[in-house]
Amino acid sequence: MPVSNDFSARLEQSLEGIVEHYSTPFHLYDEKGIRETGNALIDAFAGVESFREYFAVKALPNPSVMKLMQSMGFGFDCSSIAELALSRQIGARGEEIMFTSNNTSPKEFAAAAADGGCILNLDDISLIDKIPEMPELICFRYNPGERRTGNSIIGNPVESKYGVSHDQLLDAYRQAKARGAKRFGLHTMLASNELNHAYMVETTRMLLERVEWISSELDITFDFINIGGGLGIPYRPEEKPLDVVSMGREISKLFELFKKQHGYMPKLCVESGRYMTGPHGVLVTSAINRKEIYRTYVGVDSCMSSLMRPGMYGAYHHISVLGKTGDDETVDVVGSLCENNDKFAVQRSMPRMADGDILYIHDTGAHGHSMGFNYNGKPRPKELLLREDGSVELIRREERLNDLFATLSFESNTYTPAD
Ligand SMILES: *Cc1c(COP(=O)(O)O)cnc(C)c1O
Repeated sequence: MPVSNDFSARLEQSLEGIVEHYSTPFHLYDEKGIRETGNALIDAFAGVESFREYFAVKALPNPSVMKLMQSMGFGFDCSSIAELALSRQIGARGEEIMFTSNNTSPKEFAAAAADGGCILNLDDISLIDKIPEMPELICFRYNPGERRTGNSIIGNPVESKYGVSHDQLLDAYRQAKARGAKRFGLHTMLASNELNHAYMVETTRMLLERVEWISSELDITFDFINIGGGLGIPYRPEEKPLDVVSMGREISKLFELFKKQHGYMPKLCVESGRYMTGPHGVLVTSAINRKEIYRTYVGVDSCMSSLMRPGMYGAYHHISVLGKTGDDETVDVVGSLCENNDKFAVQRSMPRMADGDILYIHDTGAHGHSMGFNYNGKPRPKELLLREDGSVELIRREERLNDLFATLSFESNTYTPAD
């Protein structure tokens, strides 16, 4: 299923009024659904002694939504200076933040160490000598290479730019220890939008095995393992949701076994973005044009600036029309960019639509607004938060031309190289 029946029922009840008040287009996020998903994740991992979700900020970098994560005890997974700044703006500090950057610049290391620091997750062995100071707690991102196949979306680990290779792993921890690190974590991220829970169980098994190996070679213990993000959501109606209950149970068993053998349990971390917010967001947009040439096109008042995934990856997003059902006709639902991939749906069976119809595009709560771009000078839309009490809060206004033009030089601003 795409968005839950509960969410769509509540949405359909109030959408007309919301559209009248705020006008389209907008992304709308559902507090109730986000909290339910967060609590389900916590429950699923009740069998490990210590569990923490670090919400992947890039999925939905809005402080109002991030505060929901904070209220559930979650931390933040950041990979840029902006994401660090946003997390700190709402009060996250130190080990509530995991910094998983790659190809990291000196500026980024400085930002990571500022304001009480964070958990540094290093992407390469060469970075050990580039960080100004070795923190007490250090983590490495592991790339198992041919030992593991990634899923089809994220690709083959051997071809992936991320992480420390298997042969470097032991040396990485040895060097970090020599430079003064006292506490350790191990991270990997091998899958994206994975719906098979067994994949995450295997990832956990692999990391715990590496922990055993590194610990015995270097006489250290591990504070945590981080199995990454990549928990999937069903975008298509025929897809089944990830079985988090089984995932939690099977992963907890591995942790129990580890404890029996080694006398302690590391903390378990995940850094989900999509799973936490993806199904709890919709892009609401109005039909404004209908065009019949070789195909029928329904033009809407938003475009790839609001949602890149269909155009960029050919990703499927389910689309509902408020107050209409049926498979009356086959259409392309399109935006207004001068790019022929600016389509939210291609040759999709839809109810018969007319100008003024309100459409909602499902599952835009993660990697939706945040991925939008400004090509053609198309502004990104506003973001709304549907609170549990039914009120609707504006949590980001729409972009305006002044925002788009803010970086332009209208006065002359010239550098002339000396002879
Ligand atoms: C993007 C990303 C995530 C989140 O991925 P989802 O598919 O949204 O769960 C987590 N960790 C890292 C390092 C990432 O790059």
